[in-house]
Amino acid sequence: MPDLQGVLDEIAAEMAVQTDRGAVADYIPELATVDPNRFGIAVALVDGRVLSAGDAQDIFSIQSISKVFTLTLALGKVGDGLWRRVGREPSGNPFNSIVQLEYEAAVPRNPFINAGAIVVADTLLAGYQPREAIGEILRFVQFLADDDSIVIDHMVAASERATGFRNVALANYMKSFGNLDHAPELALGVYFHHCAIAMNCCQLALAGRFLADRGRSAGGHSVVSAERARRISALMLTCGHYDGSGDFAFRVGIPAKSGVGGGILGTVPGVGSVAVWSPGLNRQGNSQLGMLALEKLARVMNWSVFGS
Ligand code: GLN
Repeated sequence: MPDLQGVLDEIAAEMAVQTDRGAVADYIPELATVDPNRFGIAVALVDGRVLSAGDAQDIFSIQSISKVFTLTLALGKVGDGLWRRVGREPSGNPFNSIVQLEYEAAVPRNPFINAGAIVVADTLLAGYQPREAIGEILRFVQFLADDDSIVIDHMVAASERATGFRNVALANYMKSFGNLDHAPELALGVYFHHCAIAMNCCQLALAGRFLADRGRSAGGHSVVSAERARRISALMLTCGHYDGSGDFAFRVGIPAKSGVGGGILGTVPGVGSVAVWSPGLNRQGNSQLGMLALEKLARVMNWSVFGS
């Protein structure tokens, strides 16, 4: 196996001089202020080691990567009944698209597009006040990463709430079809806050390690079954990058989930998890350099799930 630390250092050095870095998301005003020149990468191996390079200690908004954690939590609560309200198919559409909801009785195509994640947030509200549901999600992420210092960036959550009109439309539309149990603003409150969880690459890689380690978390706890970890990973591969999921599988070949904060969390089953962050996005809203870095890493380390 090549020297992983050396490979990470090389990738970070290469990314530092890239000029085509994509554009920082500015539809959430609070995210528009992030420095596009940052780049960090971290790998959490199943043997317990964490290796990193670049700005791997910088905190960023994990945005839609949080949908992996809310899905995991929701499956634990409601089990496979969740699939009556959310599908498991790639959408081939932008993350905030509304069109398919009309044709499919407001059952979102998958849990990683915004509409699907809002339904997942709605299931996490059952029996709780929004504040409690948000607290439970945050504690779950802290538990996964074995790190109590992880917090929600309330400025980002407020910024999303003030400008998230399209998410409001998605929630209202689904509510009108009966696919939200709670008031749209309550489900959205949970959604905006989990999107605003802030982490660095090392914390994020650790939080996602259970996917690579048959459901065992960074702290050594069995969080989900090996089968559930496999299935969540399958959804990340097919749906984790919205209408860029096919291209991501083609170029990188590992299950991964992106967020408009510029982060990507990937899993290499049996080996470890990887988190990368660079705020500039491509046309589909996925980190431009994050994807390039993962493409290089997976190639050099022979990590594609499709074989060597
Ligand atoms: N919070 C963001 C939104 O709702 C999440 C989108 C993303 O990361 N792709 O628009």
